[in-house]
Amino acid sequence: MLFWLRQQRPMTRFLRSSFKLYRRQLAWLSLLVVGLLPRILSARTFPQQFERIKQAATREQLYRLLYAMPKGGDLHQHFNLANLAESWLLLATDPKVTRNNVFYTRARPRDCPNITSTAPRFTTLQKSSVEILPPCQRDEYVALSAMTPEERALFVSGLKLDRDDEGRQEFFDAIGSRIGDMGRDPNLASAALVDNMRRFAAEGLRYMEVFVIGPKFIDIYGQPVAVERGVQILRERLMTPDAQATGMTVRFLATVVRHHPDAESQIERAYELVSKHRDLFVGINIAGREEDGRGHALRFVDVFRRMRTRYGGIPLSLHAGESEAPGTQVKDTLLLGANRIGHGTNLLSDQSTLLLMRGNHYLIETSLLSNQLLKYVPDIKQHPFPEFLRIGIPVCLNTDDRGAWDSNMTDEFFAAVTNFNLSWEEIVAIGRNSLTYSFAESPVRERLLREYDTAVKRFELLYIGDDWPEKLRQVNLPKSGYAKRKWGIFE
Ligand SMILES: [Zn+2]
Repeated sequence: MLFWLRQQRPMTRFLRSSFKLYRRQLAWLSLLVVGLLPRILSARTFPQQFERIKQAATREQLYRLLYAMPKGGDLHQHFNLANLAESWLLLATDPKVTRNNVFYTRARPRDCPNITSTAPRFTTLQKSSVEILPPCQRDEYVALSAMTPEERALFVSGLKLDRDDEGRQEFFDAIGSRIGDMGRDPNLASAALVDNMRRFAAEGLRYMEVFVIGPKFIDIYGQPVAVERGVQILRERLMTPDAQATGMTVRFLATVVRHHPDAESQIERAYELVSKHRDLFVGINIAGREEDGRGHALRFVDVFRRMRTRYGGIPLSLHAGESEAPGTQVKDTLLLGANRIGHGTNLLSDQSTLLLMRGNHYLIETSLLSNQLLKYVPDIKQHPFPEFLRIGIPVCLNTDDRGAWDSNMTDEFFAAVTNFNLSWEEIVAIGRNSLTYSFAESPVRERLLREYDTAVKRFELLYIGDDWPEKLRQVNLPKSGYAKRKWGIFE
């Protein structure tokens, strides 16, 4: 008997441990049955699920889905003009941000004898700039914190194209002056950049390329801040814990205004700046109104060729063809050595360049809302974007000057999906393009692509089931003024 028991003990132990193992497997199996199996058995791919959602979703549900979706990068974004009006007001009246610099706006224009002011209403100046004005003009300015509620509303509206009668003129002639000295204060402007990083990260972006002119900062006495010091301030601000916590990678393009009389020497300085700070400044851009003939692309052929004799590996993203009139600006800009083209809205009118760009590696940075609101393509349905995308020209979506559009990246995707019926594969290809064609150093670019692919897989798994409407209700959605006005979302 004793012998028998001795024989049985290992056997019992074996049986018990096997049962434990079995129980563990059973638990895993039941988890699989309850959780994943229905999704697997439905044999539905995410592209199919996306089509089902597009059919069944309300506009707000589709908007929520596109907000929650991973989006890669924004490769075309202008420093200062990308900041939301409400953020400017909040940050510019926070002494911790401005370090006691005070901002005033021309809220109360008057008829001042012998003075004709060209400053638009709500031009914003810092204290030192207001103090040097003649007394009558000085009285036109009110501290941002002392505005009446009506003036606050008008101030905020003045920084946006929020009325149908506003367009290119309002944008180019007024909004820059209204941002005014707020954009020249290095502490305020860099705080606004971090505010943008947080907002873009919340809608699924991981990377931003920001176009910086200068940087042209002034101190609280109105004296210019040296470019090197300006770069140092930007660099240090990006290293602060709140900026780091956004998870966003930011790089800058040294940007030159094309119609400026000394644009050529600005291009030379831009090369010098990029070559000194290659970890932060990754390329060069040319911006500004193209219809102003003084800044036509061919003017810069010589200077870019000269710069290429001195510097290697500095890529170019240049605005070109942002026009409603036919033209060869994109071709002329490729001749400057452009790697990427900003807008390219008139490319369809230049057939040989269109053919050259098919299946090639020049990316077009499309901004649907910008082109609509500045009336280069007043009807989004007429935009060449789907043609670029579907004949094989690399393209991505960008926010450009979203502060003025009162919009975000979700709005760009919502406009693209609802006007051009984008498939899931097309959305992911656009997201991947926005990282593949970025000018970030290749290890950073590869990391961002890996992170994007992982985030896309996680997103697909989350929304593959029939419970997507419940999942979407949990998305914390900030209001976009553009989406509210144009699409009636959030009403
Ligand atoms: Zn632009």
